[in-house]
Amino acid sequence: NLILAIESSCDETSVAVVEDGTIVHSNIVASQIKSHMRFGGVVPEIASRHHVEQITQCIEEALTEAVVGYEDLSAVAVTQGPGLVGALLIGVNAAKAVAYAHHLPLIAVNHMAGHIYANRLIKPLIFPLLALVVSGGHTELVYMKEDGDYTIIGETRDDAAGEAYDKIGRVLGLPYPGGKKIDEMAHLGEDTYHFPRAMLKEDNYDFSFSGLKSSFINTVHNANQKGEPLNNINLAASFQASVIEVLVSKTLRAAKEYDVKQLLLAGGVAANKGLRDALTKSMAEELPNVELAIPPLSLCGDNAAMIGAAAYVHYQQDQFTDYALNAKPGLTFN
Ligand code: ATP
Ligand code: MG
Ligand code: FE
Repeated sequence: NLILAIESSCDETSVAVVEDGTIVHSNIVASQIKSHMRFGGVVPEIASRHHVEQITQCIEEALTEAVVGYEDLSAVAVTQGPGLVGALLIGVNAAKAVAYAHHLPLIAVNHMAGHIYANRLIKPLIFPLLALVVSGGHTELVYMKEDGDYTIIGETRDDAAGEAYDKIGRVLGLPYPGGKKIDEMAHLGEDTYHFPRAMLKEDNYDFSFSGLKSSFINTVHNANQKGEPLNNINLAASFQASVIEVLVSKTLRAAKEYDVKQLLLAGGVAANKGLRDALTKSMAEELPNVELAIPPLSLCGDNAAMIGAAAYVHYQQDQFTDYALNAKPGLTFN
């Protein structure tokens, strides 16, 4: 089984060829970050235009690199949502065109399911499992009883973790997206500012990062007003310590209560070294019998290989879609 997968939900145009939902034959990722950087965030109109310019070439490159022709494919998969509607539509229409021209079945994939299934590209999933999905637009704990079955047991009430990173990155004058740079700075500093740990003790699996963001901004503004010095390295380390403590603590609590066999880390923020290390350490100490899966850095951010991995579940369950397929910018699991 060979699936051609297309991802265009945000600012990466990506096309992959994935075999049996597990083997990546190619995973072409054309990032637009440079074009959005000077605006301090993703500009939807610019994103759509880049996708249009890139998509055909990405499809050809993915096939060439995989040494595969259209006649070898079993299906075409595409991200249906969530994401920017104009960006999603480019992928959806490209997928329809390929499916129609080459008589291939079409599979619609949830982008967040893709992030979770990035883990399937490194190891088999063991159910029931819990996935901590941390990305630019989402922060949620997803319980899975079996393949393709998603229950959100907790989520952010305001900002996503990646969004919080990018917002405080802007306060520190870092280029967009600031997440990676803050992670690097954090490793050089210490938690001297002691920002709040929101909802840490509350009896639920929800998160909140807007209070942390406000606290961070107030600290910076107050110091600037008083002309007091700020230590940006320690600011980054303190921010990161707060985010990681809440994420890891609540995730472990949920993993215990739901008695899962495996824990998956997923989404762009899964690239965070502090989070990867803290989760690995805590899991080894507190839940040594629960297997931990963390995707390699190349599969944390948006990419089409993860869409191909998630699509294979639909293929096995005979879940195909017709040419009426439309983008769903607000697509959710429930
Ligand atoms: P979503 O998947 O929710 O639709 P998205 O696709 O825009 O949103 P991703 O591409 O999955 O988000 O992740 C991008 C986010 O990951 C950005 O906010 C970025 O700052 C963050 N990020 C990337 N690397 C790191 C890192 N090392 N530490 C913290 N955050 C990071
Ligand atoms: Mg992106
Ligand atoms: Fe994403």
